[in-house]
Amino acid sequence: MNAGINDSVEFDKKHIWHPYTSIQNPLPVYHVVSAHGVRIKLTDGRELIDGMSSWWSVIHGYSHPELTKTLQRQAETLSHVMFGGFTHQAAIELAQKLIAISPAGLERVFFCDSGSVAVEVAMKMAIQYYYSKKRPGKNRFLTIKSGYHGDTFHAMSVCDPTTGMHKIYQGILPEYLFADKPQCGFYDDWDNRDIDSFEQLIRENHDRLCGVILEPIVQGAGGMRFYHSQYLKEVRTLCNRYDVLLIADEIATGFGRTGEMFACGHSNISPDILCLGKALTGGYLSLAAVLASDDVGRVISAGEPGVFMHGPTFMGNPLACSVACCSIDLLLNSPWRENIRRIEAEMKRGLAPCYEMAGVRDVRILGGIGVVELEQPVEMARIQEKFVQKGVWVRPFGRLVYIMPPYVMGSEDLQRLTQAICEVVGKELEII
Ligand code: PMP
Repeated sequence: MNAGINDSVEFDKKHIWHPYTSIQNPLPVYHVVSAHGVRIKLTDGRELIDGMSSWWSVIHGYSHPELTKTLQRQAETLSHVMFGGFTHQAAIELAQKLIAISPAGLERVFFCDSGSVAVEVAMKMAIQYYYSKKRPGKNRFLTIKSGYHGDTFHAMSVCDPTTGMHKIYQGILPEYLFADKPQCGFYDDWDNRDIDSFEQLIRENHDRLCGVILEPIVQGAGGMRFYHSQYLKEVRTLCNRYDVLLIADEIATGFGRTGEMFACGHSNISPDILCLGKALTGGYLSLAAVLASDDVGRVISAGEPGVFMHGPTFMGNPLACSVACCSIDLLLNSPWRENIRRIEAEMKRGLAPCYEMAGVRDVRILGGIGVVELEQPVEMARIQEKFVQKGVWVRPFGRLVYIMPPYVMGSEDLQRLTQAICEVVGKELEII
């Protein structure tokens, strides 16, 4: 590394907050100069095979020529214009595409800036829905433990109370209801008792509940858990029975990651409100969308105050919308199902040696998501460096070493990635 880069990294260390880190004693960061395809290039010349898709988002790989071209073309004509009083082709086309590919019945589209904001918007919709129905007492939420929905306040209030560190915000965060996390895994036989805790909570509290919010099938940052498709079906049935809106947070799972275009597809259900983000723009820009049923749209508009009370400055940003349109086209024009199936099969094969390791609690794979769960938490900085030394980018948290590679990753790179995981995890287990 040259002196300039060293200075930059020192400046970063001193002044810039990174996700979930101390500013006083930060975890090391690696200086990236560029990224193409599935490779991230560091300033010191090293190249890393990307196992993370930059947190689920870069599904087509980095610097995709068509995404880049689309962005450039859009920047030359209309980078941004306020969405209040104006509309534009990129937003219209994106809404059309989202309505076409999302679960049936979702026809009203709200664009916003990020996943967490999408969750805020969805929760506000649910509250305003029952307010408009003159049932303002129905304003609480039910969710399931081990969930993750973002870092803003209301999103945080439905994250797992322990891993979401609710105790720091006690008295400030709204206190909502948490059902036991599902125990039946995606590949297990269904056991009816799995829904008991949820069923009891919705039965006893529906009069004050406006919404149930959950991540369909895959609980991501709250534990990388894959639960049974029947659980989601039961939730849908119970929400209908007790007149509670179902909000599906597909911010992580959307756009094919689990092997279905949306994870709700595993259960063949439609939510009343759907949150999308992350892979929406192929990882180019921050954009999220909330899709609602016609009923939700109509009720909110018919009630008092007759409008939906949200409108961010960068709502429907044309750059983000145009690149999202291109990303969806790339996805639909690619053999994405086959790619995911291949990645799933190769991860099953490649991570199999981890099953045998003492200290590994579980290895699970679903679609383009591979997880090695250890008995003990890893030391992030140490394990991270080991992965970088092996030329791969894997960022574990807690007891979880997991990957969700770009869909375009070839077999050879994926093999290097899974082999690196087996080797690094094996070594790490000798230490912890
Ligand atoms: N919901 C889920 C399921 C997520 O995985 C995330 C991001 N990790 C969010 C919401 C929040 O999205 P963002 O980070 O874009 O605010």
